Amino acid sequence: MKKSINTLLKHSSFSRVNRSANPAVVRASTILFDSMQELASHEKKILNDKPITHYAYGRYGSQTTIELQKIIKELEQAHHVFLHSTGFGSVSLAFMALCQSGDEVLVGDNVYYPTREISEKLLPKYNIKTKYYDPNNINDLKSKITKKTKLIFVENPGSITFEFQDLKEIIKLAKKNNITTAMDNTWGTPLYCRPLSLGFDVSISSATKYFSGHSDAMGGTLAVNKKTYNKIKFCDKLLGSRLSADEAYLIIRGIRTLDIRLKAHSENTIKVINFLKKQKKIKEVLYPHKPGSKNYKMWKKFYSGATGLFSIVIKAKSKSSVLKFVNKLELFGIGYSWGGFESLAIYHDISKSRNFYKFEKNEHLVRIHVGLEDSLDLINDLKNCLKHIK
Ligand SMILES: *Cc1c(COP(=O)(O)O)cnc(C)c1O
Repeated sequence: MKKSINTLLKHSSFSRVNRSANPAVVRASTILFDSMQELASHEKKILNDKPITHYAYGRYGSQTTIELQKIIKELEQAHHVFLHSTGFGSVSLAFMALCQSGDEVLVGDNVYYPTREISEKLLPKYNIKTKYYDPNNINDLKSKITKKTKLIFVENPGSITFEFQDLKEIIKLAKKNNITTAMDNTWGTPLYCRPLSLGFDVSISSATKYFSGHSDAMGGTLAVNKKTYNKIKFCDKLLGSRLSADEAYLIIRGIRTLDIRLKAHSENTIKVINFLKKQKKIKEVLYPHKPGSKNYKMWKKFYSGATGLFSIVIKAKSKSSVLKFVNKLELFGIGYSWGGFESLAIYHDISKSRNFYKFEKNEHLVRIHVGLEDSLDLINDLKNCLKHIK
């Protein structure tokens, strides 16, 4: 029977232990074999990508992580999925595996700040040059491609400024020039956008965010197509970033309700945005909510839903009054990360981390994650605190 992905999230083929509805948490370093011959034949299976029920050593994973791999593989429609201890472990692995000395990489100007730090501080040590492209201008990307360009790294949308790019055009340019493409898809998750189906070679999600959904676990998933598989596999094995069985279990537990939570985040977010967009102090809401805008069109073209993270651009003479607005919010915690059940707000100064995004005078950016609280309470909280902005 053909099943929808929402059903698969509940009913993936788990290896049940003692008839429990959930997989076992298998913590392991040493795996025991009956004989050297059995060990050798198992190693051979792994080398030839034959199906396995366990790995030969704990660093490569356990039964619990294999179960998570199966779910993500379905979600991403991937050839294979690699798991890492953090989302950033997946991002850094993509760079290390896909480029080498002498290469150039093209990175969206809107990427997650640590991704920028990799480009600026780590890649130069290996003689790899980064060029940032303007995520709002495909011609800028086009003009920066050279014979040395080996990777285009896209974050869509940028998780602070929320530019939605023409993903099909990026793929087209990359294919024409024989360039590998990777997309950080943490915002949309593969439930709302499937980079591999669009033609990307690599799709990355921080499982810390919506997959786990409860702000209590960290992990990263890196899904690949067949073409990129061997390159990633080689580095994945050698760099040793491993997802623990306990974190894998928590992510499996969270991902069961991914569809239901995302729907609730999305409905709450629209209500909050409908309130915010009417506020005079707010110049712009950076979320695909305005039909007719470029961001809306590009979102509609590639996504089947929108999640709970967006930013607001506030017009205010006093920065400290904007900080006060954030500090005074009762239901929006101040902190990094997002994708959990709870609402968050954080002031971002992006002046040093963008080449293309320019603020006008007296503009400030606050990023908001809308959680699963009652939307009326969230709106009341925002209403009470907006008055502090001067
Ligand atoms: C959080 C985040 C990451 C990194 O994930 P961690 O699990 O925190 O390491 C990468 N990309 C984006 C867009 C993120 O929001």
